[in-house]
Amino acid sequence: MKYTADVIVVGLGPVGAIVALRMALAGYTVTLLEQQRELPQDQRASTVHPPTLDMLASLGILEDMICRGIICPYFQYRDHETGPVARFDYSSIADIVKHPYRVSCEQWKIVEILLERLRVHPKVRILQPARATGYEETDAGVIVYARTDTGDISVSGRYAVACDGIRSTLRNAAGIDYSGYTITDRYWVLTTPFDFADVMPRLSYVNYVTDHDRWYSMVRGRNHWRVLFPTSAETPDEELVRPEAEREALCSVYPGIDYRVTHRKLYRVHQRVVETLRHGRLILCGDAAHANSPLGGQGMNSGIHDAFNLTDALPDAIDTGNTDGLDRYSRQRKHAALEGVQAHARRNEEFLRERDPAERQKKIDTMRRIGADPVESRKYVIRAAMLEGLWAAEKVA
Ligand SMILES: Cc1cc2nc3c(=O)[nH]c(=O)nc-3n(C[C@H](O)[C@H](O)[C@H](O)COP(=O)(O)OP(=O)(O)OC[C@H]3O[C@@H](n4cnc5c(N)ncnc54)[C@H](O)[C@@H]3O)c2cc1C
Repeated sequence: MKYTADVIVVGLGPVGAIVALRMALAGYTVTLLEQQRELPQDQRASTVHPPTLDMLASLGILEDMICRGIICPYFQYRDHETGPVARFDYSSIADIVKHPYRVSCEQWKIVEILLERLRVHPKVRILQPARATGYEETDAGVIVYARTDTGDISVSGRYAVACDGIRSTLRNAAGIDYSGYTITDRYWVLTTPFDFADVMPRLSYVNYVTDHDRWYSMVRGRNHWRVLFPTSAETPDEELVRPEAEREALCSVYPGIDYRVTHRKLYRVHQRVVETLRHGRLILCGDAAHANSPLGGQGMNSGIHDAFNLTDALPDAIDTGNTDGLDRYSRQRKHAALEGVQAHARRNEEFLRERDPAERQKKIDTMRRIGADPVESRKYVIRAAMLEGLWAAEKVA
């Protein structure tokens, strides 16, 4: 079977859904390929930062997200033994963003909300399950090949956008280098309906917690808390999937509770960026282009920023053949991935991972000082909210 469209989007994650919807809203035909028959209730991303909320509001989906998620006005750093170190308040940036808070809403809910719009849009065709297997560039455009339950198909278009995640088939087919490293710890995420706020005083909805020999983060969802623990490379998976191990881990956060765990998952985490986000008529977006540690909750957000930047540039390339905007997209978003997202995740990790008692105390004191100083604290919020990285990227010519 052969299909045609102006734009071929591969991958129905949050990033692919946004690229498809924005291009359709701009009047272009879109064919979206997704390999999975049913989309999983993916517990990866849940944090959505203020500039991303401003973008998503322009698609008219923010109210639905807030209804299915929760508004987080603050985030904080804590010491496991002594409690809050510094609390950062998003109202300090109310003059520069329309939505001065984070929203905690799982990425699968965001995809579901977007999918409701995509399914009824006359310019969008969704092929699912359809697994892209490769692509080829022609004089007029690009052809993406895919496998479906009923046989092999091809989709011809002007541009293909690879939003097919960290293992991107199209990136690999193009031979684009995805350099970086894999973090040796795996991250273990446990979800429980137990409300830690009832027993832990002055808890924010987003907390990064340091202790003398470990660290963890705690994020509140609509009806649950998600706790992320690093696990050592030596601990076998089988040890972690035992219910006793889960309860033990949660009891190390707050003891004496018979925790119910409603979701658990072990993630391998990478810090990687491609050499280029544009390869002729193939454009990479989201995790297909960059991956980073989830500390700071920025991967999906930066993928959404990619999607907005790209879909501002793509119409000109389609209509006039001028690809300057696409090359700028590649340079700007690579800069944001390296200097904004990865740098912030690294800073967060350095604070949390410090084990030397004197150095740890120094870091805690510095964080306490930043949190107590309104000017420094606002600067910190600007950086954590990804605004600094976005502004710096916009300046890249
Ligand atoms: C533990 C953890 C917590 C995280 N928390 C946050 C957070 O709070 N905030 C945040 O911003 N980020 C967070 N992230 C990162 C975030 O999950 C990713 O950055 C985000 O999922 C990237 O979205 P994407 O659409 O690019 O890729 P994906 O969500 O991976 O979607 C890719 C899609 O492409 C499909 N696909 C793959 N190959 C093919 C193919 N060949 N053909 C057709 N379809 C294909 C897949 O099935 C999938 O549906 C977290 C990550 C982890 C591991």
